[in-house]
Amino acid sequence: MNKLVILVLVSLLVSCHDTKPAEKQSYEWAMVLHGGAGYATDLGVELEQSYASILTAALKQGETILKNGGTSEDCVVEVISMLEDSPLFNSGKGAVFTHDGQNELDASIMRGGDMEAGAVAGVRTIRNPIKAAREVMNNSKHVMLTARGAEQFATLQKLDIVDSSYFFTQQNYDRLQDILAKEKETGMVDEEHPDSKFGTVGVVALDKSGNITAGTSTGGMTNKKYDRVGDSPIIGAGTYANNATCGVSCTGHGEYFIRYNVAADVSKRMEYLGESVDVAAQQIIHQTLEEAGGKGGLIALDTDGNVTMPFNTTAMFRGYIRPDTLVTRLYD
Ligand code: ASP
Repeated sequence: MNKLVILVLVSLLVSCHDTKPAEKQSYEWAMVLHGGAGYATDLGVELEQSYASILTAALKQGETILKNGGTSEDCVVEVISMLEDSPLFNSGKGAVFTHDGQNELDASIMRGGDMEAGAVAGVRTIRNPIKAAREVMNNSKHVMLTARGAEQFATLQKLDIVDSSYFFTQQNYDRLQDILAKEKETGMVDEEHPDSKFGTVGVVALDKSGNITAGTSTGGMTNKKYDRVGDSPIIGAGTYANNATCGVSCTGHGEYFIRYNVAADVSKRMEYLGESVDVAAQQIIHQTLEEAGGKGGLIALDTDGNVTMPFNTTAMFRGYIRPDTLVTRLYD
């Protein structure tokens, strides 16, 4: 064989190898999180650094749990509790104000192995609503408890109960005052559209045993009235998990996420249509919701640890961690 023939044969072999479909990746553990969706394009260097560093710290906390064989349930509760304790997010300590000047918090959790779930809505004195959601899931016959009943239950479960003033932050209070002043001036009464704010938090984790858990925690929307409840504590709307498909946590204009049953729809599309987690999630956020005028995003991961984080606003605080990588992003 002359040199030219050998060269052609070698290059044919190489090109055959290149066109082989990529091996399907499967990760031992994985975690994805969000810190809310909105319309910011430039938060300033200092704030951007604060968000990037707390997102990184949260991902590393999750990594420690999952790498050492901890459960996805523990990971979701621990990481969300950490974000709830930060005033940077609209959940726990940083919750926004209602029209009446209260902070009313919602949270939910779902475990994909046995499809058990728990949620609390409209609570004012539970320091970490995600812990209360877990107690509802594990230690009650119910899925959702609301308001004072949920607080009573959390007290019985010996969770940390705080005075409602714990949730006060000047920035969120000032935002409510601005909106109330605008309402007075224009005579128009409306909740704040989630077009400038961030902060609902969500985590989805896959542990070494193949169990997926998803959780979401929020203060809802500034100036909400009449004990309004959004999608975050509603299983199937803001949170969903099924070990056979994926786990999902949503953020955005809750009324749309409730009506379009967004979190469960990602899982159902995978189940009924055979779509990947990414295709299903992109379709819902960029087509179904976009066409309806619903704004926001979601995070999801499947049983192999594949992650997706689509949103149809200009920004969504988000990130994921797996044995091979750590990623955080704020904008597009
Ligand atoms: N989805 C939340 C709600 O409607 C708000 C948000 O995610 O920003 O209550």
